[in-house]
Amino acid sequence: MPGLSGPVHLPDPFPEPRPVPGCDVCAALVRQREAHRRHRAYALAASCTLELERHFHRGKANP
Ligand SMILES: [Zn+2]
Repeated sequence: MPGLSGPVHLPDPFPEPRPVPGCDVCAALVRQREAHRRHRAYALAASCTLELERHFHRGKANP
């Protein structure tokens, strides 16, 4: 149907990758990130997020 579409759901502008259950690397990165945030080291926290996004899960896809 032409014209206006329905309400647009805007995603979180900075979606955080979800840790994969059972993955030690994910768990460690999440813990590390929380620690950095507690110390207001947001650049370091962001790099943890990046690593979380990038590290490879062999055999299972990211959800
Ligand atoms: Zn992982």
